[in-house]
Amino acid sequence: MLDENWRKEYLTIRQLKDRIWKLKNRDEILRKARIYMAKYRRENKEICTASKKKYYIKNKEKIKIRRKKFYNDNEVVINKKNLKYYYKNKEKQIASFKKYYHRKGEEMRKKRKEHYQKNKEETKAINKKWQKNNPEKYHKIERQSRIRRKEILHKIVHAFTDNEWIAKRNATNGVCPSCNTFVGTEKLTLDHIFPVSKAEEGRVYTLDDVQPLCKPCNCSKNAKIL
Ligand SMILES: [Zn+2]
Repeated sequence: MLDENWRKEYLTIRQLKDRIWKLKNRDEILRKARIYMAKYRRENKEICTASKKKYYIKNKEKIKIRRKKFYNDNEVVINKKNLKYYYKNKEKQIASFKKYYHRKGEEMRKKRKEHYQKNKEETKAINKKWQKNNPEKYHKIERQSRIRRKEILHKIVHAFTDNEWIAKRNATNGVCPSCNTFVGTEKLTLDHIFPVSKAEEGRVYTLDDVQPLCKPCNCSKNAKIL
């Protein structure tokens, strides 16, 4: 009986000691474990990706919620970290994004457009709210795009006079040729059929290369060739 008790006591003391030792050397143990795991992952890449994928598919919703919560809780820290990383590896980041965009750009634009069409009012409301809450940022972006457009306009050449353009505009009798809506000649804006943002330095635009468009048509056209 005595023996048995002694054994039990000895075991609990050992367990406690073990625990204390583990707690004391926690960082070192974790560090070693991390190195070991990284090595294992490197050597068994396929197995790890497969099991990760399996886990993700099985727990998709849970993971999404957890990620969202983690992001919301640590938003400021995460954004700071990301920004720091971005500035440290700016060139690399831009290059990799360009590569990605080149590969997936068409798909991304399509998805964005679909999403916008589906949630038009909602997106508009969100944008407006953002503009209201960040007036300085919004004005900065607006100013930058205005400056950029001005810069681009300096790159190209108009091979027609103002009067020639006005004559072409007046010939429409104030009807937008794209949507056939009457807006009045004054409200028709000059549209470059080949987008200015894509024009090479010194590109010449003749009167045939421009068209009068109403503002909504011109805005929705953006950098497309109509
Ligand atoms: Zn129009």
